[in-house]
This record gives sequence, structure tokens and C-alpha cells, in this order.
Amino acid sequence: MPEGMIVKALAGFYYVLAEDRLYQCRARGIFKKRGIAPLVGDRVIFTPVGGQEGVVEEVLARSVELVRPPIANVDQAVLVFSVREPVFNRRLLDRMLVLIEKAGIEAALVLTKIDLLDTLEKIDNEIRPYREIGYPVYRVSSKQGTGLEEVRSLINGKISVLAGQSGVGKSSLLNALYPSLDLKMGEVSQKLGRGRHTTRHVELIAVDSNSFIADTPGFSQLDFGHMEPEELDSYFREISQLSKDCYYRECQHETEHDCAVLKARQEGVLDELRYQHYLEFLHEVRDSKEGR
Ligand code: GDP
Ligand code: ZN
Repeated sequence: MPEGMIVKALAGFYYVLAEDRLYQCRARGIFKKRGIAPLVGDRVIFTPVGGQEGVVEEVLARSVELVRPPIANVDQAVLVFSVREPVFNRRLLDRMLVLIEKAGIEAALVLTKIDLLDTLEKIDNEIRPYREIGYPVYRVSSKQGTGLEEVRSLINGKISVLAGQSGVGKSSLLNALYPSLDLKMGEVSQKLGRGRHTTRHVELIAVDSNSFIADTPGFSQLDFGHMEPEELDSYFREISQLSKDCYYRECQHETEHDCAVLKARQEGVLDELRYQHYLEFLHEVRDSKEGR
């Protein structure tokens, strides 16, 4: 039986892409019985029926499962931030990185609208801490067409979710990257008439034969949910690394004795703003835990 990938789920049908053909499939009743539903992004085994339709027989093991948007096997979040209009917001970036680390997917940062800057020196200083802890950073101008080839390579062969505030240039970036597709973030969902009160529709758009982008921005819901204060440090890569040398195993790196994170901060090895955001989020996570 052939294998394919679900690229769209709508009104009880799963649209399975296999070797450049799209099959409108029903799922075997067994899924309902077990209470598990196939997800967009799932790799599935299916039986073709008459060339355009089919039945999903089996869902293959997922690497990850995102909740918002509901997509399986996402490889990476591409975080889109403009360097101006709106101004580059590191608090929001650190917040998104926490959520992405928690979800267990890779993250890459794409800075847009660099044509609006006279010099790149300031922005390079702002992104240095992220490069140093292993996040790839790309700088593009969709308007001038610069830096696009690198971002196409980043997206190639993967399932990506774009994240970023409205107005940072996500749609412009997609259109600059893939001019023949005429893409607009979220437009597909709106076109299908999903009103505010119905479940959101998600679709993976094939930007080329082996690369997919969710048509709806991810990580737009930015609260930390049911997070424990003790787990927060594991979502800051560099703090997580440093914390292995803290005296206390449950050290939260505030005032504790013999804390490797505080030591690194004092020595100027740990980026101060990253640390400040860690503290801020820690207090937020504690407060929300008390409230629940
Ligand atoms: P989205 O809401 O994230 O999809 O953002 P859009 O792609 O709709 O872009 C928001 C605004 O930023 C629009 O007015 C675009 O023309 C502008 N914009 C997008 N990319 C660039 C760029 O590279 N340079 C400049 N100067 N403006 C841009
Ligand atoms: Zn510590």
C-alpha cells in the first residue's frame, strides 16, 4: 500500500499527497474507536480508490505534534521578525523560543526589512547572543530581494511553521521566496469560509515538491500554559547548559548559593537581556501556577 502525507484536513476528509497526486481520503473507523484523529503533517499508509480517492489505513509514528496549529511532524519554526516597523522585539523572541523549545522543534530566526536600516551593526549585536547559542539567523529584504536564497535552503526539504507578529513581512517574504505561488498567510483559511466560531482549518502548502509551509502562523498564543517553574531553564539553551554546574539540582538561578548561571552572568558570559527575560518569565510562570 502506498505511503503519503496529509496536507489538509477538512469536513471529515483527509487530503493525502503521494507522488505529486492528491487523494481525498476517509479514515478507517478504527481511528474514531481509538479516539485518535489523523493530523495534517501525518505520514500515512492508504488504499487508493479509483485514482483520486482513498482510505487512510494507518498513521505512522509522529516525531512531534503541535497543538496550535494542529500539525504533526513539524521540523522547524521559522521566526520572522522585522528589524523596524515594528521594531525588533527581543522579549517576544525569547518568549517564542521558550514555547518552541518546549514543543521540541528546531527554530531559525529570519530578520526582515533590513533595507530600512542604514547600518547593520546594531542589529548584528542584538542577534549575536542567539547565534552563539546555536540558532541560525538570516537577514533578508523581500523588497530588495536580498538574502532569499539562504532562506529557501533553510525551508527546503522540511515542514515549517512561520511565526511572527502581523506586519513583520511574512506574506511578503513568502511571495519573494516563491513568486509563482501568490501566497498570503492565513488567507487560505479565510477563503474557505471558516468563520470565527468554527474550528480553524490548517493546510500545508507545498512550496516545492519536498518542502511544506503551514498556511497559518504558529505560536500566536503566547502564554506558557501549564509550565512548572523548574522546567523553564531547560528552554533557555545556554542557561540549561550552565545549570548542570549549579550546586542545587533544582536551582532556579535567582539567589541560590553556588549557582553557575549567576556566576556566568557576573562574568559577562551570559547575555544580560536573556537572563532578565528568564527571570521575568519565571515570575510569570510562578504567578500563573499560584492562580491555578
Ligand atoms: P505579514 O502581516 O507578516 O504578512 O506582513 P506583510 O508581508 O503583509 O508586510 C507588512 C508590511 O511590511 C507591508 O506594508 C509590506 O510592504 C512591508 N514590508 C514587507 N517586507 C518588507 C521589506 O523587506 N522591506 C520593506 N521596506 N518593507 C517590507
Ligand atoms: Zn543556578
